[in-house]
Parts: sequence; C-alpha cells; structure tokens
Amino acid sequence: MTKKICTFCVMDTSASNIKFDKSGQCNYCKDFQKKLNTKKKNLDNIIKQIKINSKSKNYDCIVGLSGGIDSSYTLVKVVELGLKPLAVHLDNGWNSELAQNNIENLVKSLNVDLYTHVLDWDEYKSMMNSFFASDVLDIELLMDNAMYSINYKMAKKEKIKFILSGSNISTEGMNMPKNMNWIKFDKKNIKSIIKIFGNNKIKSYPAIGVFDLVKYILLNKIKWIHFLDYFEYKKDEAISILKSKYGFKPYEYKHYESIFTRFYQGYILPNKFNIDKRILHLSTLIVTNQITRNDALRILAQNPYSSSAQLNEDKEYFLKKMNWDESMLIKYINRPPKSHMNYPNSKYMYKILLKIYKLLKSSD
Ligand SMILES: [Zn+2]
Repeated sequence: MTKKICTFCVMDTSASNIKFDKSGQCNYCKDFQKKLNTKKKNLDNIIKQIKINSKSKNYDCIVGLSGGIDSSYTLVKVVELGLKPLAVHLDNGWNSELAQNNIENLVKSLNVDLYTHVLDWDEYKSMMNSFFASDVLDIELLMDNAMYSINYKMAKKEKIKFILSGSNISTEGMNMPKNMNWIKFDKKNIKSIIKIFGNNKIKSYPAIGVFDLVKYILLNKIKWIHFLDYFEYKKDEAISILKSKYGFKPYEYKHYESIFTRFYQGYILPNKFNIDKRILHLSTLIVTNQITRNDALRILAQNPYSSSAQLNEDKEYFLKKMNWDESMLIKYINRPPKSHMNYPNSKYMYKILLKIYKLLKSSD
C-alpha cells in the first residue's frame, strides 16, 4: 500500500485518524496552525508567579533536564531571567556520552545545582525486557513515566511549585497521532506488563500513575510549565547559542541524546511498527517555518540513521547491553505488534480525569 502524504506538511497515512481536505492538506497541520494562533503567553506574568510562590529557600523552580536541545535551552533562559532553578535529570543507563558531557558543562557554567536520579539498571533492564516481550509500541513509556515521577517527587520534596520543561509548541506542538505513543502516566499498564512477562513487581522504579498526577496537581499545587512557549522559540538559534556560549555539542536528530531513543526511533519503530516519527517532528518545523517541505522530504528519503556504520554500532551496543543475540532481535522485530490495550491500563480513567480537568480549568 502506498502512503498518501499531506500537500502542506509531510504527515502521511501511517498516522492514525489522518484526514485530507480538498487541497490535500491534513488535519494535523491544520489543527496545529489553529493552536499557534491562539493567545500568546505572558512571560513577565509567569516569572512573577514563580517568584511569588517560591516556598523553598534554595530554588524557585525545577528544570527537567534531559540533555537535549530544548531542555538545555530552557535552563539557559531560566537562569538568564534571574530564576533559581534546581536541574533534575533522570539517568536510565542509555545516555550517550555526548549528552552526559553536555549536561555537565551546562550546569557547571550556569552554576546550577543538578539532581540526578539513576535508575537501578537490573530492574530497568528486566522491565524493558518485559515490554519487548509484550510487543507493545511505547517502550519509552518506561523512561518518560519515571522522568515525570522524579520531577514531581523532587518538586514536592523541595516545596517547589513550578516544573519548567523544554517541551514546546514550536518544535513539538503537532498533536501526536494516537498510534505513535501511549499515555505516559499509565502506571497500571507498566505494572501489568512486568507482572505478566517478568513475574515482577516494581521495586525501586519510581512509577507515577494518573491518581498520583491528580494529587500533585490539586493537592500539592505543582504546575508543569512548557516554558519555551513563552518565547519565539527557534531551534537553530537555540543550538547556536548553546554551541557558542556553552560548548554544547548538538545531536544529529531530535531526541537522539539517548542511545536507546535513537535505536528505538531509528530502527525499532520503523521496522516493527511501521512508524517514522520524523514525519511528526519535521511537519512541526514546516508549519513553524523552520524548514521547507522540500528539505523535509529530502531528509525523509534518507534512512533515519546517518550511516549504516552508526546503525550497526547502536545495534551492537543494544544487543550487548540487553544481553540479546541477533536472532532475538530479528524474532522481536518480526513478531506482530500488540496494543497497550491488550493489557490492563488506565486509558479510560485518564480520559475521564482529563475531561474533568479541562472543565475545571475553563471555569476559572
Ligand atoms: Zn499536513
């Protein structure tokens, strides 16, 4: 089956629920354009709020730092604006050396405290193996869930009311197609999958569930802020500032600061799940005028990996770290995918809570 592709961006029929209008433009980029035109956020206002609500002596906000461009630039901006951040980083064992160096350089030159939470590798590895055995799509749920959890936990512990993250509309604002990831707060799904496939319970892994999230938001009054949305955020400018002022070494593609993420997005997703997440990132950049559609098409025509040497290097690294042999990887890639819905999950609860939250928000 050939893919039909949007005439304005590069989203195609591999995205669930994609629809095209008469001119061939898709609902993803049209919705995104609408979102961009809604009211601009007020920076002075949020800075004031963060300073007023600070209950901690040492810090007035947390910055979740992955080592990627967006979160690193968030930290730079936060310091420039006179806030006192605590940088929080989650280490799941897959950080590239490049990312590690970038993080260290950055916090040192900005003179910011860094809290790094290191996940227990044996436990995390066994959880990853259960996820592989279950054939579900979102292996990164394990990383992202723990990342959210650690940020909220630290905020609560340090009595900090604001978590500033590098997630943003300008480079990530297009709606994620439902078939490309899973609800990041689905502790129930994580617990069920590791129970079924590893006969395991969570030991030290810091899971966060939908009700934990509700508690953090309503009881502890912790706000998660997409900080870069308060600026005219352009990725190229961010990279050049990070490079020239902080000796930052950029990654060849979005989210490639982690070796597993690179292997997952560049090899596992396209080969097992027929998904190339680059269409989403590139389309977002097209809509925000950061790249032309032709350049995006040119990039998409190339392999997600810059070279087969890099792919082989990452594959070797993955196999060794996971104690797999090549035949296990081939078998895994060839098995048909299964939905997260095949296992107990919080999807409906999450939907209900989200609806209530939106109602509450629109009434204040
Ligand atoms: Zn489109």
